[in-house]
Amino acid sequence: MGRDYCTVFGCHNFSGRIEKFGHKVTLHKLPKEQYARRAWIRAISRKNWIPSNYTRVCSDHFISAEVEMTRRIASARIHVERKMEQIKNFRILQGVIPLALSKFDDHVFFVCTALTNLLPPLVAE
Ligand SMILES: [Zn+2]
Repeated sequence: MGRDYCTVFGCHNFSGRIEKFGHKVTLHKLPKEQYARRAWIRAISRKNWIPSNYTRVCSDHFISAEVEMTRRIASARIHVERKMEQIKNFRILQGVIPLALSKFDDHVFFVCTALTNLLPPLVAE
C-alpha cells in the first residue's frame, strides 16, 4: 500500500507525515457533491489537470476548525454505519418484499429502525 500525496502544486505532504509543530498531516478526498467539488478544484487551481478518485488535499490547506469538524463528522459516521448494519440484520429487510406488501415498505423500515433503539447502545456510556 503506497502513500497518498497532496495534489496542491508545490506541496509535498503525504499521509502520516508529522509536521514541525508535531501534528500529523491528514489527507482529504475531494467532496462528491458537485458544488463543493467545483469549489475545491477552483481553489487547487492547477492548469490542465483533471482530478481522479485518488486526488487528495492535505490538512495544511484548511483552517484547523475545518479539520476538526471533518474529524468529528468522520467519527460520527462510524456510528451511523454501525446503526445501519443493525437495521440490515432484520430478516424482513434481507429478502424480497412481496409486491402486495410493497406499499408498507416505509413502515416496515421505520419499525425496524425503531426496534434498533431497544438494542444495547452502540457506544459505551
Ligand atoms: Zn498539501
